[in-house]
Amino acid sequence: MELRKYKGQEPLSLLGFGAMRLPRLNDQTQEIDKEKAFEMIDYAMAHGVNYYDTSYVYHAGLSEPFLGEALSRYPRESYHIATKLPPWPPVSTEDDIKRIFDEQLARFKTDYFDFYLIHNYSSNTRKNIEKLHFYDFLREKKEQGYIKRLGFSMHDTPEMLAEIADKHEWDFAQIQLNYLDWDMQKAKEQYEVLTSRGLPVTVMEPIRGGGLVNLCPESIKILHDYNPDASAASWALRFVASLPNVLVVLSGMSTLDQVKDNINTMTNFKPLSDEERAVLEKAVAAYRKTGSIPCTSCGYCMPCPAGVDIPRTFALYNAHCAKKSAWDFVQEYRALGDEHQAHRCIRCGKCMMHCPQNIKIPDQMHSIAEFAAEMMRTTPDRPFADAVKIK
Ligand code: SF4
Ligand code: SF4
Repeated sequence: MELRKYKGQEPLSLLGFGAMRLPRLNDQTQEIDKEKAFEMIDYAMAHGVNYYDTSYVYHAGLSEPFLGEALSRYPRESYHIATKLPPWPPVSTEDDIKRIFDEQLARFKTDYFDFYLIHNYSSNTRKNIEKLHFYDFLREKKEQGYIKRLGFSMHDTPEMLAEIADKHEWDFAQIQLNYLDWDMQKAKEQYEVLTSRGLPVTVMEPIRGGGLVNLCPESIKILHDYNPDASAASWALRFVASLPNVLVVLSGMSTLDQVKDNINTMTNFKPLSDEERAVLEKAVAAYRKTGSIPCTSCGYCMPCPAGVDIPRTFALYNAHCAKKSAWDFVQEYRALGDEHQAHRCIRCGKCMMHCPQNIKIPDQMHSIAEFAAEMMRTTPDRPFADAVKIK
């Protein structure tokens, strides 16, 4: 496993294990399939992954207790814990901050965190963060030895990132960085904001919630033709890991195969060559033409009071943008169930406050509802088009 050192000191595995998309018992629950997840953690530990990232709220609060149980079977000095404090309910008062911080320590059966972050310090959350004195509390915890490195994660503009970075003394920051967002979401500028201030970067969403594995057929062909042995995920990980100020690349892994593939990429790591960068640019250009919605399936917008399954709806729409199979779209959209489909959206706007990608969700739901109605009206019950293709 490739190692990067925090300011020349602690060696950290370049691949970090993100614990927000652990295997679940079924699609209807956030409950973790512990048997599978233990196997993934054990494989990662055995292959040199020593950085584990979570939050108080991942998996509806079940990620931290699971990770605490899994990691505490190993010597404490053999792994680094990175976790986060959310500036939204259940954190509504200064007492909540104290209570939850102690609860987090107990969940991990530890008396210190290696890396601790304010979760999504951005224009939507800063009022609460400042009113409740998050930073002062955490700074004191750092001075008392409960936190080794203090940072923040954020999904916002480069200007807001610069403002937050300059507001306090930080040890690192976590941003969304991947080859699609490099220009589209100004990730390059964000990386430069942090690098120019000497703040090491931990990367979230390097594979865009799995979206960069399911590119359109044309993009996949471009990558595959250049290197048939490289997985789509390996291109995405190598892109961000090639940046010198990147300390750790977090991958929210859901299967053992993903763990193995990512470890393979980050062991004997090779930065992207100029030629490979050019290939990637061609693949991105092809993908951009599909009109996909930049949803990462993070689920922060859920639950929707009207019952819409927002991430799943966007995933189905994006799959159609990439693959253009009307029959597949209609079947899967129907399977979503009338009560979870886009037409149920009442435009309350609640979801938008939580979406780190700033997607205009109600407008998109309105468009998808019209699109889906038309597709269901015009698509035959049987996959004639697909059958013709196969013949
Ligand atoms: S705007 Fe629509 S999709 Fe968003 S929470 Fe409200 S009803 Fe649900
Ligand atoms: S719409 Fe936004 S908040 Fe909801 S899952 Fe997608 S990226 Fe996350």
